[in-house]
Amino acid sequence: MKKVLCYFFAFLCICFLLPALLTKQNIPVHTEQTIENQSDENNISEETPYNYVQYGTIHLLHKKTGKIEEVALDEYLYHVVSAEMPAEYELEALKAQAIVARTYTIYKVKNKKHENADICDDSTCCQAWVSKEDRLQRWEESKREANWKKIQQCVNETKGKVITYHNEPINAFFHANSGGITELPVNVWGGSGLPYLQVVETSGEDAYSQYASEVVLTNQELIDKLKTKYKNIQINFENSEDIKILDYTDSHRVKTVQFGNCKISGVEARSILGLKSTNFEIIKEANQIKFTVKGYGHGVGMSQTGADSLAKQGKNYEEIIHHFYAEVEIKEVNSI
Ligand SMILES: [Zn+2]
Repeated sequence: MKKVLCYFFAFLCICFLLPALLTKQNIPVHTEQTIENQSDENNISEETPYNYVQYGTIHLLHKKTGKIEEVALDEYLYHVVSAEMPAEYELEALKAQAIVARTYTIYKVKNKKHENADICDDSTCCQAWVSKEDRLQRWEESKREANWKKIQQCVNETKGKVITYHNEPINAFFHANSGGITELPVNVWGGSGLPYLQVVETSGEDAYSQYASEVVLTNQELIDKLKTKYKNIQINFENSEDIKILDYTDSHRVKTVQFGNCKISGVEARSILGLKSTNFEIIKEANQIKFTVKGYGHGVGMSQTGADSLAKQGKNYEEIIHHFYAEVEIKEVNSI
């Protein structure tokens, strides 16, 4: 009988006491996770998720680890928008960015570049992405919660919306600052261009830090940089004809520049010399060359500072999108 009671007591321990102890040990981890899950659930319950018939799940390639993550489209966009545009920008600019990022993502899903993945997290290849943890760390502690909520709001309030041309999602290029005027894709990447990507002017972009920059190189530094691509380059710095801009694109960016015995495209000069855009002037000084640059990025499609500037002037996200992309429509993705 004693034996039976012992077994019964042991059985009780396994059934009730042991799980209780284990649960107690796990409390800190569970609490953290529960709080996070609750906050996510709260956000979702405030805003019913869009029922994407297609494109609801994205296969995201993390370039550094090679890992492919399966993630809900709008959840993925929180991380993209917060990586691509400062959270302090106007709400309407952030909404425009959310739609542009959603459109760009769906375009990438339909026009796959990566094996087994729809898009990657590298901004130089596809579109920037940042983990929530890293994003929060980079914001001031007092602003973290409000900033993340603002980003979620922009994605949630534009859920399902994409930019289309002839009922197809557009290749929604964007960049940091156009220097006041955007560029045609043909002048950056060649090809035959895209009808919805035209040259447009935007006021107010000069108010942003990305608008003006300069690069100063000694004559020798200039030669050294150009020699990485043009081994036989020779420049006579005494001759005023040896360094000069030969022609400009319609948006006043450098099309071709002469460096001694070499003619180089503005796009290549930007890359070799580390200029922020192809909208530059050259000033010759004693033993050095100064490049004064306007704008930041390739200049094609939506300018992010331009979007913010337009929002400050009272434009909404639809007006901002129609300003930068010609003859497009903003549609529900399920309707196309
Ligand atoms: Zn990529």
